[in-house]
Amino acid sequence: MSASILDLVRPDLRAFAGYSSARRAGVSGSIWLNANESPWASLADADAQCQRYPSPQPEPLRQALAALYEVEPQQLLIGRGSDEAIDLLVRGLCRPEQDAVVISSPVFGMYAVSARLQAARLIDVPLVDGPLGFSIDISALAATAMREAARVVFLCSPGNPTGHSLPLDVITTLAARLADKAIVVVDEAYIEYSDVPSATTLLAAHPNLAVLRTLSKAHALPGARIGCLIATPELIDVLRNCQAPYPLPTPCTELALAALQPDALTRTRAHIEEVRVERERLAAALLRLPGIRRVYPSQGNFLLLRFDDAETAFKRLLKAGVVVRDQRSAPQLHDALRISIGTPAENTVVIHALQNLETAA
Ligand SMILES: *Cc1c(COP(=O)(O)O)cnc(C)c1O
Repeated sequence: MSASILDLVRPDLRAFAGYSSARRAGVSGSIWLNANESPWASLADADAQCQRYPSPQPEPLRQALAALYEVEPQQLLIGRGSDEAIDLLVRGLCRPEQDAVVISSPVFGMYAVSARLQAARLIDVPLVDGPLGFSIDISALAATAMREAARVVFLCSPGNPTGHSLPLDVITTLAARLADKAIVVVDEAYIEYSDVPSATTLLAAHPNLAVLRTLSKAHALPGARIGCLIATPELIDVLRNCQAPYPLPTPCTELALAALQPDALTRTRAHIEEVRVERERLAAALLRLPGIRRVYPSQGNFLLLRFDDAETAFKRLLKAGVVVRDQRSAPQLHDALRISIGTPAENTVVIHALQNLETAA
């Protein structure tokens, strides 16, 4: 089974060993003269944390993230946000001007950016907007991925900006249909806010499945740029060789480790719960306001809204000092804004700003 995963990797990269960095040499000693580092720490670096090149995949962080995500450390590749994992997947699997990436719009923009940079074909199988919110057309997606011989299919669950979650059986069905044909990537940037459990539990049965997790959203560390690809160790090993030699700055690793301590995790969980409560309060309040045509159910830390007049809504919010995401140029969302869930006080400002939308500005 595992050999078939390597068949999906670009043939020219299957045996690529990448850069042989000083930290990867696997030797030990007390006098380090192998990496042209300075023997003195910078005055700015009081505890000499950054005097040496970091480990490419610091073991304590790998252990802590594996424990958090309930997977084996060998299934993890830590990178500069899940954005880097997206890029590595597309670069590692798609031959330029040949292989295809499949997305379902409206969706997070980085899949298309990475496809463009790799000159991979981008195929869109749009989400379907129904009475219960957006959903994925799973048979069209599978059929298109097969027809186009796609190498990577990006699913986003909960979806950004739609807020819908994919049931695990939908992911299972797609992964099974595309076994040996494509890697099905489930981007779970917002899974902490969702009622649907992570797709990591499906990895053992589906080696062509990959999951993206990040510390940028619920863990409140977008500035640290720590994200993970979780996949079969064969794929992790190949993509690790395609990654930058020292992707994780030491201060970022230390920050991430601190954020994974029990007290920090307890606080993070409390904030997740608060966001979930506020999400429902904000949704209920906005649903009652005239001029708001639709509040999509959301499993993330944001709401997607349709307005009679999105321009006026956007301006009213700005006038109240509230910056939200304009979605009007996204497919199917010509009248929509996406609002992140803030503190209770911030959400109340949003509700007030959107009252009386029907009266002219
Ligand atoms: C925010 C977001 C990301 C980016 O995560 P980083 O780990 O900060 O790179 C990835 N996917 C989706 C769907 C997002 O909304």
